[in-house]
Amino acid sequence: AAGAHVIDGKAFAAGLRARVADAVPAFEAAVGRVPGLAVVLVGDDPASAVYVGSKGKATLAAGMASFEHRLPADATQDEVEALLARLNADDRVDGILLQLPLPAHLDEQAAVATIDPDKDVDGLTPVSAGRLALGIAGLVPCTPLGCLMLLKDRLGDLSGKDAIVVGRSILVGKPMAQLLLGANCTVTMAHSRTKDLAGLVRRADIVVAAVGRAEMVRGDWIKPGAVVIDVGINRLAPAAGEAKGRLVGDVAYAEAAAVADAITPVPGGVGPMTIACLLRNTLVAAHRRAGLADPE
Ligand code: NDP
Repeated sequence: AAGAHVIDGKAFAAGLRARVADAVPAFEAAVGRVPGLAVVLVGDDPASAVYVGSKGKATLAAGMASFEHRLPADATQDEVEALLARLNADDRVDGILLQLPLPAHLDEQAAVATIDPDKDVDGLTPVSAGRLALGIAGLVPCTPLGCLMLLKDRLGDLSGKDAIVVGRSILVGKPMAQLLLGANCTVTMAHSRTKDLAGLVRRADIVVAAVGRAEMVRGDWIKPGAVVIDVGINRLAPAAGEAKGRLVGDVAYAEAAAVADAITPVPGGVGPMTIACLLRNTLVAAHRRAGLADPE
């Protein structure tokens, strides 16, 4: 094939961020304040600190208020939950993001479950998961939401498409499958115990790979004309002369690009969509909390 269309997640995310920023002044005029996102970081994991920093920056760049809260690595469960309770009660805060993972002595699920579902911009509370499963309006995890946007942008109506999601994590795979089902796809959920994964992927019009294994999905698994969304972010061991190894996805990109209709690159595909969708979720949460219709 001449090669797949390369889905430009970076450009799409920039457009989404701009649309969020454009909606802020009207919200402010109606409500008397800008939407606000609170990010909570417990401990000093360097990667988490970087994520929290870029989320704060993106929030401010969209014209929204950013509230950053840091707790020490030895914070107790009660201290974490007390902070979340304060943020639940704070009217300036429309979205609450608890940066994961928490230090090992803390109960992550229990802490997440205390977040007000109407402020759960990560979509990780049991209530948010339940709303998604029941098809009730709620907040949806950012990464799969971004994947769905890219798919709809490429394909339009997804009705009747055969979709496979490889990976069933709470953060990505499971909500992705729910979203595709909600969009009327016929959905296969694959995981580490799946038999004949290659054969199942070969049937699919839509392939979403969220596994965390470098280049596991091969080109000869891809049905010609399929759309491939690669969520994986894996760093290879450095080759000779490289300081750090290359980033690759869960899909063997060059092979798959030779047969697919369209494919997301790594980096520059799904990755940039996550923060853009976090801003979008914060804007949506703010509108719903204020009793306004969802922004366009
Ligand atoms: P998890 O490790 O939580 O889940 C991985 C899933 O892959 C599990 O369901 C597991 O199955 C399945 N799996 C593992 N090995 C195989 C195999 N050989 N065949 C089929 N399935 C397999 O990962 P996440 O969902 O959190 O993340 C997946 C990838 O996406 C990672 O590379 C991560 O870095 C990336 N990511 C990127 C984001 C972004 O772009 N912004 C955001 C979040 C994640 P089982 O359940 O049976 O163990």
